[in-house]
Amino acid sequence: MSNENKTIYDFDFKLICDFFCTMERQGPGSPEVTLKALGFIETLNDKSLIADLGCGTGGQTMVLAQHAPGQITGIDLSPEFVNVFNRNAKQLGLQDRVKGMVGSMDNLPFQEGELDMIWSEGAIYNIGFERGLNEWRKYLKPGGYLAVSESSWFTDKRPAEINDFWMDAYPEMDTLPNQVAKIYEAGYLPVATFILPENCWTEHYFASKIEAQKIFLAKHAGNKAAQEFSKLQSSEEELYRKYKQFYGYVFFIAKKTGV
Ligand code: SAH
Repeated sequence: MSNENKTIYDFDFKLICDFFCTMERQGPGSPEVTLKALGFIETLNDKSLIADLGCGTGGQTMVLAQHAPGQITGIDLSPEFVNVFNRNAKQLGLQDRVKGMVGSMDNLPFQEGELDMIWSEGAIYNIGFERGLNEWRKYLKPGGYLAVSESSWFTDKRPAEINDFWMDAYPEMDTLPNQVAKIYEAGYLPVATFILPENCWTEHYFASKIEAQKIFLAKHAGNKAAQEFSKLQSSEEELYRKYKQFYGYVFFIAKKTGV
C-alpha cells in the first residue's frame, strides 16, 4: 500500500501514542475553547462527577479541573497517555480531584445515571459520533451535560481530494446541521455549538507537532512505519491548510432530556 492511501488505522497504536505522548494536546483545541464550552454548563458543584473520555495526556482536563468544581475521571485507551495525565495532575496539585484511568469509551466503568457531565475533546470519532451519543447518555443524570468536539463538514459539496481523504479516514464525518439533529435524536437538547477557531489547529496542535515529530523520528531512526506515520501527519496538516473552508472541529454542548 502506498503512503498516500494509508490512514491512521494502518499504524500500530503504540507507535501512534509514542508520537503524541510528548504533546500537551493530541488534537485541535485550546484552553480558551475549553473554557468557552464550560461557560454553557450551569449545574456543577463540589459533588459533581465528571468524565473526560479519550482524555489523552489531559491538556483540556487540567484546564477543566482548574475552572470547574467536582471530581474528574479521565479515561483513555493508552497507558502511556494516562501516565502523563496522572503526572500532570500531580504536578498541578489536582491529584485528589483528577484521576486518569486506562479504559475504553465503549466499556465505561461508571454506573447508569451517575455522571453530571461527560466531556470529550477530539475523541468521540473512535467509537463514532452517533454511537458515542447513544451509548454515553445512560451514564448521565437527568439534566446532565455532554460536551464534545468533533470534526464536521461545513458544506454539502467538497473537492474530491479532501472528501476522499476523510471518507477513507472517518466515513461518519457529517455536516454540522446533521450532527445537531443526531444530538437531538439521541435524547439531548442541543444547548450550543461553535466552530473551533483556526488557532486551535495551527498554534495549539500543528506547532507542537514539529517538536514531537523531531523527538519521534530520532527515537525511531530507520523505522519505516515511523517515517510513514510522520509523513501522514504532515500531509494531514497540508490538507487542512488547503481545505479549511470545507471542514473543521465543532464543539457541541448538549443537555440530557428525559430520564
Ligand atoms: N482529548 C485529548 C486527546 C484527543 S486524541 C485532546 O483533545 O488532546 C484521541 C484520544 O482518544 C487519544 O488519546 C486515544 O488514545 C484515545 N482513544 C482512542 N480509542 C479509545 C477508546 N476506545 N477508548 C478511550 N480512549 C480512546
